[in-house]
Parts: sequence; structure tokens; C-alpha cells
Amino acid sequence: MNKLVDKFGRIHDYMRISVTDRCNLRCVYCMPEEGMEFEPSDRILSYEEIEAVVKAVAKMGVRKLRLTGGEPLVRREIEKLIAMLSAVPGIEDIALTTNAIFLESKAEKLREAGLTRLNISLDSLKADRFSMITRGGDIKRVMRGIDAVVRAAFTPIKLNVVLMKGINDDEIQDFIRLSMEKPLQVRFIEYMPIGHDDNSWREKYISLDTIFEAVEKMGLSYESEVLVYGNGPAENYRIPGGAGSFGLIHPVSEHFCDTCNRLRLTADGSIKPCLYWNDEWNVRPLAGDDRAIQALFLRALDAKPENHEMAMALSRESQTHTPTVRRMSQIGG
Ligand code: SAM
Ligand code: SF4
Repeated sequence: MNKLVDKFGRIHDYMRISVTDRCNLRCVYCMPEEGMEFEPSDRILSYEEIEAVVKAVAKMGVRKLRLTGGEPLVRREIEKLIAMLSAVPGIEDIALTTNAIFLESKAEKLREAGLTRLNISLDSLKADRFSMITRGGDIKRVMRGIDAVVRAAFTPIKLNVVLMKGINDDEIQDFIRLSMEKPLQVRFIEYMPIGHDDNSWREKYISLDTIFEAVEKMGLSYESEVLVYGNGPAENYRIPGGAGSFGLIHPVSEHFCDTCNRLRLTADGSIKPCLYWNDEWNVRPLAGDDRAIQALFLRALDAKPENHEMAMALSRESQTHTPTVRRMSQIGG
């Protein structure tokens, strides 16, 4: 069986699956407050259809999966899907990205179903600011979710923090302190120009160099850390003596396309070989036909660009492809 290798020699062994485009929050950088149109439920892949796609790509070398959304925990009994996918031959690792609002009561079930890793999104440690960024989220529920997954002994637990100028860039030191107190990998992420048809993201975009300045102002030293579980683009650091670590993900200022090993599947069944570009191929009509699914993945991979050119959006240069019209909640991040 053909492996998922593109024309630049990149081996693809990782697929991110958006299980729903719906969400219980409305983060300012991800969804509009009102008027978001969701796919009707009959256009969303069923668990059996997702399993069929995973079985087909596992035979082509996909080993790692991430379930995302929208908010994956709003999909009913997501643990059933996790159990189905962890039974697929070849799948070694299943991760989940969540806003953690529904996490506390799910932590044990997710663990038992075979979830191996977790990413939690949290952009502020201040209750009123968190509520403003998420348009109504309750930070106490997120904190209880974090404690529940620490108790359930998930390793690693990553905390995604999208850094935004004038919104949460005064909290870098608080997040660094949190990474010292709890066994969390705090990952600062650059604000990406995804799903923005205006230039408003540019005003909030901030380069991640500010993180090191903030740590140095705290009088702390840090050392580079090699991650046993790392398969992504994060640069990671540890403050000596801290329980956790911190990392930087800079898709805009320094893209990580050279080592990109990921494919994306949207909730309505489209293969996206690149997060940023608009091109996609819908696999849903092929469910059940392994060969046809595999052929479509190879076609999609053949069209994968060498890099996403997000930095060109920052400098207003013209780009070679059309940026995606989908919002991040429809792609899954
Ligand atoms: N609802 C889940 C959550 O928030 O963790 C999973 C889906 S969410 C789309 C996945 C990740 O994308 C989150 O960590 C979120 O912060 C990030 N994200 C969304 N829009 C973004 C943007 N414009 N720039 C950078 N990250 C973004
Ligand atoms: Fe929902 Fe996640 Fe988007 Fe926030 S970032 S609106 S939690 S999908």
C-alpha cells in the first residue's frame, strides 16, 4: 500500500479530525458572536464513517490522530468514537483538543476509552477576561477540568494559549508561573489569519519573542527541553524546578511546513492537506470503499503546497493559493 508521502518527501502519519463544527463557546478569534451557520447534522460524518476513513489511512501509515472541532466534547458520547478508533489496527496515539468546559465529568471515560493525550485551550487566567474572550465561558469549569485530567494522570496535558496584543499579553508571566506549579505544557501560539475576511487579526497579532523577555523580567532562567511525546511544531523550555514546561508555536513568523506530517479531515468529510489553503477534497461519498478513499488522500496530498505562506498575509504580499474561507472552528486548528 502506498504511504502518504508528498512530492516534497514529507511523510504523513498524523491526521486531525474535526468531529463537529459546533461549539458551546464563541471565542473572539474563532467564531462570530452571532450568525454562524453550522452544517446540518446529516452532513456531519457519523462515527462509522470516521472509523472507515481512519481504517483506510491507517493502512497508509497514519499512526496518530487528534480529535478536535468545534468543540469535540459537545458531540454525544465522544468516548465511543475514541474506543472505536483506538481499536483500528495501526493507530497508536489518540489526542483531543478541547475548551474543557465539559471535561470534568468526562476525564475518566476518555481515559478508559483509550485517549492518550489532551490539549486544553485557555487564553486567560482571569475569570472576567476569559468570559470576554470566549463570550460567556466559565473559567472555574475549565480549572476543574484541568484538575480532573491531572488526577486521571494524562501525560502530557498541553495548554494552548493564543497570544493577542492588548488582550492577554500581560498574562505571560502568570502562565509561566502556572507551568511551574502544575504538570502542564503551556504552549503560546501566534494568532493566525484563518477565517478572517478583514485585517482585524493583524492588530492583535504579536510575535512570540515577547515570551522570553517576560521570563527574563521574572529573573528566571530556562533551558531547552526535548519532549518524549513531541510530534508537533512546538519549541519547548523548562524553568529548572518547575512541574511543567512552556513552548512556542509560531506558524506565522516562522512556519513549520518543512516537517509538516499532518492531514486534516473536516466534520463534513473534506480532506484538507494544508490548514491555510482553501483546497479540499470530500471523502464522504466514498465511505466503505478503502481503495477510493486512499486514492483521494493521495490526490489531496499531491496538491499540498510546500508552505502555507501565512507570513505573506502578515506583510500583505500576494500569495500563490487562495487562503481558506473556512473558520478555525470548521477546520479544527
Ligand atoms: N474547541 C476546541 C478548543 O478550543 O480547544 C478545539 C477546536 S479550536 C478551533 C482548536 C485550537 O485552535 C484552539 O486551541 C484555539 O485556541 C485555536 N485557534 C482558533 N482560532 C485561532 C486563530 N485565529 N489563531 C490561532 N489559534 C486559533
Ligand atoms: Fe469553540 Fe474552540 Fe473555536 Fe473557542 S476556539 S469558539 S472553544 S472551537
